Amino acid sequence: MGRADTIDIGPCPLCGGVHHYALRVERSKVSHFMPAGDEAQEKSFVRLFVCPKENEHYQSTLSLIVEPGWRIKSVEVGGMVEDPDG
Ligand SMILES: [Zn+2]
Repeated sequence: MGRADTIDIGPCPLCGGVHHYALRVERSKVSHFMPAGDEAQEKSFVRLFVCPKENEHYQSTLSLIVEPGWRIKSVEVGGMVEDPDG
């Protein structure tokens, strides 16, 4: 099942601003494998984002925390999250 995450990406290479996106992250439990350590790990993914100001795509790297005993099956960039500052 997906879980809603949000992420801030910036500075945007097109407009220089910071944008907020919703992410759909699919995690799955790694039941047959218990990691030796209990450390959460940071994993990086390269994805395409849409700049709301220029209305163009750009590529950026996002980082997610992976809890021990879990893995990330897929990461999809959803829509923009409303920015209260406009
Ligand atoms: Zn932008």
